[in-house]
Amino acid sequence: MPGILYLVPTPIGNLGDISARAAETLSAVDFIAAEDTRVSVKLLNHLDIKKPLVSYHEHNQAQSGPKILARLQAGESCALVTDAGSPAISDPGEGLVRLCAEQGVPVCAIPGPCAAITALSVSGLSTARFAFEGFLPPQKKERRQRLERLAAEERTMIFYEAPHHLRETLEDLQTAFGPERRISLCRELTKLHEEILRTTLQGAVAHYAEAEPRGEYVLIVAGGEQRAEAVTPEAALALAKGLVAEGLSKKDAARQIAAETGVSKNALYNMLISCS
Ligand code: SAM
Repeated sequence: MPGILYLVPTPIGNLGDISARAAETLSAVDFIAAEDTRVSVKLLNHLDIKKPLVSYHEHNQAQSGPKILARLQAGESCALVTDAGSPAISDPGEGLVRLCAEQGVPVCAIPGPCAAITALSVSGLSTARFAFEGFLPPQKKERRQRLERLAAEERTMIFYEAPHHLRETLEDLQTAFGPERRISLCRELTKLHEEILRTTLQGAVAHYAEAEPRGEYVLIVAGGEQRAEAVTPEAALALAKGLVAEGLSKKDAARQIAAETGVSKNALYNMLISCS
């Protein structure tokens, strides 16, 4: 019988947010796989738990993943933790879960702290439908292209951002979505200096022209208004051509623009083919 891989969320600031079940699981497993063992040891010391630790992070997952899998297959149980929050959410874990799922090793996700959901809940923006976007690409061109593709997004969007990229990202968000779009900047959640700034993109840019960005941020951006007017097939074709020029295949461009405009995917694809 294989053991179980437990995904154990850890606090995103306030140590009191570790759940009783998370702590019990960390005490009960045979070993813990940690993104950074030095960070996790501090939490384990706080909980008075002593366990063998192995390292599992972005740069060693190709070697470490199969070793953890082999131990699970031999019957040991493992808890996966990251530096903060839920494993596999903009953090290592996705690959290990996939590996276990493929090999029939049970995976058990324990609910708990996640910066994205904590920020969404407190944002004051619509929580009915949302899109998790994680970190935007650090390179300017890629970041702008990603945002251009989100121009028609109607769902609330969630972004993670580091303080040293914040000003540039706010400028790019304003360019993509316009100055009046609502944003909630959720900073240092659950920590001493927790702060929620609910404003517009223009307001956020102005605020951070004065204030120094500090700490960790989740940006919650309101979705766009629902399209009032139907997009003509010609206008949709122009949008699809733009995506093809950026390197998307005709099929993907047709699929994306069809989803955004409501124009038939097959009609768009046929128009793209006949243009070339
Ligand atoms: N897996 C984690 C989770 O479930 O929240 C996210 C890990 S990701 C590498 C780290 C990013 O999450 C930070 O750059 C920041 O955008 C966001 N974050 C983490 N803790 C935060 C906090 N206390 N307040 C605001 N944002 C936070």
